[in-house]
Amino acid sequence: MDIRKRLETDLREAVSRLRQVGGSAALEELLGASGHSWAFADEVDEIQANERREIGFATRELLVGRVNRLTAALERLKKGDYGTCAECEERISPARLQAMPEVTTCVRCQDRLERLGRQFVPSEDEVESDDD
Ligand SMILES: [Zn+2]
Repeated sequence: MDIRKRLETDLREAVSRLRQVGGSAALEELLGASGHSWAFADEVDEIQANERREIGFATRELLVGRVNRLTAALERLKKGDYGTCAECEERISPARLQAMPEVTTCVRCQDRLERLGRQFVPSEDEVESDDD
């Protein structure tokens, strides 16, 4: 399966679920942050974002994280560094990408990072942030 299609499908799904659980505000924050070519915004508008708020904050946070990771994965795909481990720069195994297309690290690094007890945050050295 085409990995870009897979990512876009997953992203679309995560976005509509996020809307369903009342995460529209969080979503707008994300869209503002990425600031470009948001192809799915209209499509998901038809989904009613009213009920199921009881699903709660934690679920919403998970979905926001997923939307973030999928968006980032699509960016990497565009730049041509998709599928390369952000830690050791080795190829991530196709099977792993198949299972979790948004991952940024190989199994070994993921394992190591989990043992260190923190989530790996990709460096954003292209992003200039002067707001401190
Ligand atoms: Zn690695």
